Amino acid sequence: METGGVDSSMLSLNMMEEDEHPHQFSSISKLHNNSQTTTSVHDLLECPVCTNSMYPPIHQCHNGHTLCSTCKTRVHNRCPTCRQELGDIRCLALEKIAESLEFPCRYISLGCSEIFPYYTKLKHETICTFRPYTCPYAGSDCSFLGNIPYLVAHLRDDHGVDMHSGSTFNHRYVKSNPMEVENATWMLTVFHCFGKYFCLHFEAFQLEMAPVYMAFLRFLGDDREAKNYSYSLEVGGNGRKLTFEGSPRSIRESHKKVKDSHDGLIIYRNMALFFSGGDTKKLKLRVTGKIWKEQQNSQGVAS
Ligand SMILES: [Zn+2]
Ligand SMILES: [Zn+2]
Ligand SMILES: [Zn+2]
Ligand SMILES: [Zn+2]
Repeated sequence: METGGVDSSMLSLNMMEEDEHPHQFSSISKLHNNSQTTTSVHDLLECPVCTNSMYPPIHQCHNGHTLCSTCKTRVHNRCPTCRQELGDIRCLALEKIAESLEFPCRYISLGCSEIFPYYTKLKHETICTFRPYTCPYAGSDCSFLGNIPYLVAHLRDDHGVDMHSGSTFNHRYVKSNPMEVENATWMLTVFHCFGKYFCLHFEAFQLEMAPVYMAFLRFLGDDREAKNYSYSLEVGGNGRKLTFEGSPRSIRESHKKVKDSHDGLIIYRNMALFFSGGDTKKLKLRVTGKIWKEQQNSQGVAS
């Protein structure tokens, strides 16, 4: 029974080599002009159990059958190929080969076409512009990950966030008991304009000793693109006015980081109550705003 297992695993490797399109790496290896060798080496690096590519640490049994580290934890110390006890043997030769080969970025399906040696690939993936976004809905431990269209649908469907089209807005925030800063929870609104999405945060917190309200806009996209846009916020009443103008921060930056940097319109509660008409019983704030696209001055050409 043991040799039968060995034969079938070798058979599957041979079949892979003969296949014209064995798996995703065949198209990549063709970019490298040594497609035949690279394809078969990539096949060697395919875990015979889960068929994913093996990265260090790569394990093997006493008979030399290899498997990936994920599968190793699942097979209860039995080699899946020959059923012998697995032990704890690394396959350094294959690990060296794996490190020398180039792999596609794991976000290939999200649009990234970059390929790198293994460790460079891992570094790249932490900053890849195609990497999925985390949910910007603060105050909840939401583990959602996805691209912008999925994120927008998620905010609307799972968090019940208000969606608006257009680049101007006029919001009223009414709070019947403004003395309860803890309960004056934040709000989130999504704006769709210029073919992009922005989210407006409005929240209350304690800034040192003073309760404040803060409104700021974030861009649903990466840093570089966020810089193409600006926004203004205005709040006022009773003949007074506060304005803020700036560039939206990317949702790549954490909500906490933006909040802690005070990069937005900050209204002290006393002033907010004054705007509300001096009635300390109720908070009635009208926040108006505008989003616009900055002129694209390409490569810093002075105009
Ligand atoms: Zn595996
Ligand atoms: Zn084995
Ligand atoms: Zn990438
Ligand atoms: Zn979420």
